[in-house]
Amino acid sequence: MQLIDGKATAATIKKEIAEEVERIVAAGGKRPHLAAVLVGHDGGSETYVRNKVKACEECGFTSTLVRYEADVTETELLACIDRLNRDADVDGFIVQLPLPPHIDEQRIIEAIDYRKDVDGFHPVNVGRMAIGLPCYVSATPKGIYELLRRYAIPTSGKKCVILGRSNIVGKPMAQLMMQKSLGDATVTVCHSHSTTLKEECRTADILIAAIGRPGFVTADMVKEGATVIDVGTTRVPDATRKSGFRLCGDVRFDEVNPKCSYITPVPGGVGPMTICMLMLNTLAAGKKEYYR
Ligand code: NAP
Repeated sequence: MQLIDGKATAATIKKEIAEEVERIVAAGGKRPHLAAVLVGHDGGSETYVRNKVKACEECGFTSTLVRYEADVTETELLACIDRLNRDADVDGFIVQLPLPPHIDEQRIIEAIDYRKDVDGFHPVNVGRMAIGLPCYVSATPKGIYELLRRYAIPTSGKKCVILGRSNIVGKPMAQLMMQKSLGDATVTVCHSHSTTLKEECRTADILIAAIGRPGFVTADMVKEGATVIDVGTTRVPDATRKSGFRLCGDVRFDEVNPKCSYITPVPGGVGPMTICMLMLNTLAAGKKEYYR
């Protein structure tokens, strides 16, 4: 079994981005500028946004953090999005999810100019990805695809089983894996209504678990020699940790590990790649690679 080291791969990619940014700046170009909008004080969201700002520094980007209290109105948030849409210096921006329940998340996502939607959640980007046009691809699936590519794990003609069908992970992952000239795999997506989930898993050359159920994937669900990608990151209480919790994947790493050819750990697998792909999308936004 070979461990897929997302942390090291992400560090390499961030270094590549930083080098490209310095070349752009040396040639008289502008540093890519990412803005992040954070609403409220949710611990997880605070950490994600802090890490995104830190990654911007590592990549040589300009970053702006816009903060609102949890009682911000939808109208105020929409006005902020309108300002960021029109700010010529901001190449791309994200609104950290989840948002408080009184705000319509889909309305917020659709208010973002798709040309600045570096999270790749806007229906225009989702639709363009589905038909294979250049666009911002959601960071987690893009990061998984990049890991498979950098570890030279063949996907063409392989059987890929994805657990989970969310809009940000499962569905876009399935699109990438089945896309002509990208994954070129035969893809099956399982979810909470699937009745043959275990049987499907056992046929997978590549098994991608994204359901948020700690330890769901057991050794008997994995084919000998498969590649196993664990997207799950559930916070499980752990009194021995300073934070009071530890991150737990969807895969029982210790028992699955001896059966597979490649596996991602949690933490240190998919997680670090996600922020790194946001940086790649921001670089593309700065270069106006997909949209003018
Ligand atoms: P989500 O929106 O809650 O979707 C979960 C999916 O799993 C749904 O499609 C659901 O089915 C399915 N599911 C839940 N329980 C199941 C079961 N017992 N059997 C079969 N299917 C089941 O979650 P998400 O946002 O995609 O995230 C999934 C996990 O990935 C979470 O642990 C999340 O923290 C993690 N994640 C990690 C990263 C990263 O960067 N590492 C990024 C994003 C998410 P239904 O559709 O039928 O309800």
